[in-house]
Amino acid sequence: MASRWDLERALRERLDREVLVGPALAQGPERVAMLYPSPYRAGMSSLGYQWILRQLRDAGFAAERVFLPEDPAAWRKARLAPRSLETDTPLSDFPLLAVSLAYELELAGLVEVLRDTGIPPLRQDRGPEHPMVLLGGPLTFSNPLPAAPYADVLLLGEADETTAPAVQSFFGRESREAWLQRCADLPGGYVPELHGQRLPPVAKASDALLPARSMILSPDTELSEMFLLEGERGCHRQCSFCVMRRSTNGGMRLVTPERILSFIPEQARKVGLVGAAISDHPKLVDLLEVLVDEGKSVSLSSLRADRVARKPRIAELLRASGARTLTVASDAASQRLRRTISKGTTEAHLIECAKLTGSLNYEVLKIYMMLGLPDEKDEDIDELIAFSRELARHGRVALGISTLVAKRMTPLDGTPFADPKAVEARLKRLTRGLRGKVEVRSTSVRWAWVEYVLAQGGWAAGEAVAQAVESGGRFSDYKRAFKGLPPQDYRPWARDEGFRHVS
Ligand code: SF4
Repeated sequence: MASRWDLERALRERLDREVLVGPALAQGPERVAMLYPSPYRAGMSSLGYQWILRQLRDAGFAAERVFLPEDPAAWRKARLAPRSLETDTPLSDFPLLAVSLAYELELAGLVEVLRDTGIPPLRQDRGPEHPMVLLGGPLTFSNPLPAAPYADVLLLGEADETTAPAVQSFFGRESREAWLQRCADLPGGYVPELHGQRLPPVAKASDALLPARSMILSPDTELSEMFLLEGERGCHRQCSFCVMRRSTNGGMRLVTPERILSFIPEQARKVGLVGAAISDHPKLVDLLEVLVDEGKSVSLSSLRADRVARKPRIAELLRASGARTLTVASDAASQRLRRTISKGTTEAHLIECAKLTGSLNYEVLKIYMMLGLPDEKDEDIDELIAFSRELARHGRVALGISTLVAKRMTPLDGTPFADPKAVEARLKRLTRGLRGKVEVRSTSVRWAWVEYVLAQGGWAAGEAVAQAVESGGRFSDYKRAFKGLPPQDYRPWARDEGFRHVS
């Protein structure tokens, strides 16, 4: 078992391996903990998290990072409370915690970190002696209600221009009530005590602020030492399951290649271009040519199969920069289902991607898709089996399968979660049909259901997470905790009851 000394040494060594490419930690009394309730590897791979950290440091605040420990049980055994990386300060000593939540299942991490540091997770159990909690992140674009019981203030949507003012007014506050009111007046400012379960619209940041970019390079992240920056924000397409579709904040906002290049530090050998629809950037090929010429290794956060099929040069340049996997999404098992979710990808596009995988010597073509879509049938799975076998004639293919989780603020909002037994049976059918030909990897159907209840639920669903974590955090604990929810918060297999986003 790792001793307290081992765990502390590992933190110090991690800090020593980082390279700062943004503002250093300010020395001042206005200290804020930037809490990411997942481990460091994931948190430091989040461009949004790094960007808000940069914003706060630019504004002069002493913003320090705190993550969920990799092994929370080992930390508990060693009596080590979650603490900041920069100054080793326990989380409970900060007056303000700024939390970034990427998606619903991270609420469990938030409960764990707060509990392990002696801060009651639920707002109603905290007093003036405890830190206040400001919360934002990608989750707030769809349904922030389950996170509301844990936060004093939530900043919905793009928080580029609202986080520093919210922190500034916290340190200049006359009273807690005055701070809450000030935050409620910010674009996207949601204060549960003032708004109840009625949500204000999400904030949209000014285009002049783009692109968001990394401020720390680290070898200990999912994207080891990669400098991340936005090539565009938003998406102009309209896939019906996706929160980032074009109705969110006006669609796609482009950053010019000149501006992108001007922010890439010379020492960054690896560059990650980020954006919901980055492969649709009209100047992407030009940009890749420059970066590859400079000897950079380049990755894209997403790649549309139709774009690769129309512009194979993208796949050529990524391969030349060192990529070994070509990753695209087809999102549904059959052409019929892809049409029903407005996914503009066709079989012809995917075949073209498979051919490129073979001709450019990529190791594998990875295709992401979902099961459990409305009206999915066994015949759709049979089509997927036959089609995947055809793709595999051109090179190695791997399918990454998840279960559809209908999100609010999308046309599929309110769609019931699929019968888990049917999804599991289809997964088996698929795996059997592709054995020895195509790799099939799937995420848990059970945890997708937990995510679904939270994606569709309100405050009570969020509060149930604290109860589930307290009971051990297993799937059975969630099932039990969700059972007590009022009907509008617990609709596991129910038909649509007309429950919609309340804003
Ligand atoms: S799934 Fe991708 S292409 Fe479709 S709307 Fe979302 S971001 Fe755009």
